[in-house]
Amino acid sequence: MLKAFELIRPSNLAEALAAVASGATPLAGGTDLLVRMKKGMLAPKKIVDLSGLKELSEIKEDEENIILGSLVTHGDVVDSELTNNYLPLLVQGCRTVGSPQIRNTGTLGGNIVNASPAADSVPPLVALGAKVVLSSVNGEREMKLQEFLAGPGKTLKRPDELLTSIVVKKMKPEERCLYRKLGQRKSLAISIASVAVKFGFDPETKKCSNPGVAFGAVGPVVRRAVELERLLEQKKLDQQAIKEIASKAREFCDPISDIRASAEYRREMCCSLLYEALYELTC
Ligand SMILES: Cc1cc2nc3c(=O)[nH]c(=O)nc-3n(C[C@H](O)[C@H](O)[C@H](O)COP(=O)(O)OP(=O)(O)OC[C@H]3O[C@@H](n4cnc5c(N)ncnc54)[C@H](O)[C@@H]3O)c2cc1C
Repeated sequence: MLKAFELIRPSNLAEALAAVASGATPLAGGTDLLVRMKKGMLAPKKIVDLSGLKELSEIKEDEENIILGSLVTHGDVVDSELTNNYLPLLVQGCRTVGSPQIRNTGTLGGNIVNASPAADSVPPLVALGAKVVLSSVNGEREMKLQEFLAGPGKTLKRPDELLTSIVVKKMKPEERCLYRKLGQRKSLAISIASVAVKFGFDPETKKCSNPGVAFGAVGPVVRRAVELERLLEQKKLDQQAIKEIASKAREFCDPISDIRASAEYRREMCCSLLYEALYELTC
């Protein structure tokens, strides 16, 4: 049973920031937070409900970037013309989250701050080099999402901060991308391993440009595989090169064994997922 708590319903961002500064725990969609509270893992005394803040629920663009408010839901990402046009990799990741109910309730901000290594919006965002914007009563700061993630369930967010938006460079129309997730079943499954890949590709020369690769659920945090990206840029991506690069994926994994899979299986699946992704994107 839930323990009693004070609920604050701010009418604007300034009120929400004042509430977190006074020690209130942020509530967005509640699909992670309320589960933990029901299980007795958390018992916040004060909660600030962000769900009414329209200013954090928008998807906007400027010349170079798509700016996603932290309250944008996975369903919003799947449905938005802007994300479908400019961030198809993120759309693919969000489409695999939970069920329609979870996608329409769970937010990008909650998915990021919850900091699960298996979060499905995060590998696409990390592969795309996304930045997070953190706000407090004292102002704003911005950092790379990859650096923000500090460990399972841990981020560099200070208790008095809210994640207010996520800034992602627009993908180029010619860039190809794929998010691959392995779960114990096809839907409503937490990732055993996942990979997000994007790059520009010239089918004539089989050379790739501007690659981004990130793995989920195979280490303490979602991790960008910069060394694999370098190999992708160096090699002519024929069958042989794809096999070689995919087999190196195990070197970038540091998985654990848990109820879903053994560490060794995860390591192997990392290579298979990357092989499948590279094969589909280049053939
Ligand atoms: C049945 C089920 C299936 C699921 N399946 C998947 C899945 O397939 N893939 C997946 O990735 N996830 C899955 N999840 C997890 C969850 O739905 C997502 O992580 C979701 O995006 C969390 O967002 P939320 O808005 O519900 O976060 P909340 O539960 O509201 O918050 C999560 C955490 O983030 C903090 N927080 C939220 N917003 C902010 C903010 N703006 N600033 C600062 N802190 C903030 C909260 O205080 C809390 O600690 C599943 C959950 C359930 C219950």
